[in-house]
Amino acid sequence: MKPLRVTIWNEYLGDHSKHSPAGKLYPGGMHEHLKRALAAPDLEIRTAWLGKDINHGLSKKVLEETDVLLWWGHGAHGMVRGKVVDRIVKRVHEGMGFIPLHSSHMAKPFRALMGTTCTLRWNENKDKCVLWNVNPNHPITQGVPLHFRLEKEEMYGERFDIPKPDELIFVTWFEGGNVFRGSCTFTRGAGKIFYFHPGHETFPTYKDENVLKVIGNAIRWAAPGEKRDFQPNQKVKPLVEKA
Ligand code: ZN
Repeated sequence: MKPLRVTIWNEYLGDHSKHSPAGKLYPGGMHEHLKRALAAPDLEIRTAWLGKDINHGLSKKVLEETDVLLWWGHGAHGMVRGKVVDRIVKRVHEGMGFIPLHSSHMAKPFRALMGTTCTLRWNENKDKCVLWNVNPNHPITQGVPLHFRLEKEEMYGERFDIPKPDELIFVTWFEGGNVFRGSCTFTRGAGKIFYFHPGHETFPTYKDENVLKVIGNAIRWAAPGEKRDFQPNQKVKPLVEKA
């Protein structure tokens, strides 16, 4: 079987500097860290970032050659070009998997695909949180315990203004009392989407084995299915002749 072609996109602004907390935690950026941490024989992983080129590393060709796109953005959502956003949305409709991570709930492609504001409540109190696995038979939770804890994570809480998800995968509790539907799936056209909230850049979240297991499972789950003979907006003849 051909490996899945994965592109990991990172805004890569705040964690650029070697001396910033994120730079110390993830030298070379979170995208490069995730590429190494998720490496497997069935995955062919490349990375891209906001300043890579005029297309933020996501040319038409790169997106056509991407089966699953991971996205991490935080403070520079507004700098992502509309043309690139439109291309991503089109590719999701065609079947490309899309995995927005952490503060990418406000990323342009995610909001365009959801059609809602995707706003939520938050604070950076370094809350401890517990992710409760509410869908233990789902492909995304295989090999993941019924609950697991992250010692520090940015609190994201309800109400999260998303459309009703296809499936909830984890519900997260934060020690400040908030709860969050921060791990859920959607379908848009032929594409599968998994939003996963952990991953504040100054905490070692992407070194947690359960978080990595979930992301790895999600990549395989979001992979495009068989190409179908589907052309939107086509005029068709009736299947049955009128008497
Ligand atoms: Zn954050």
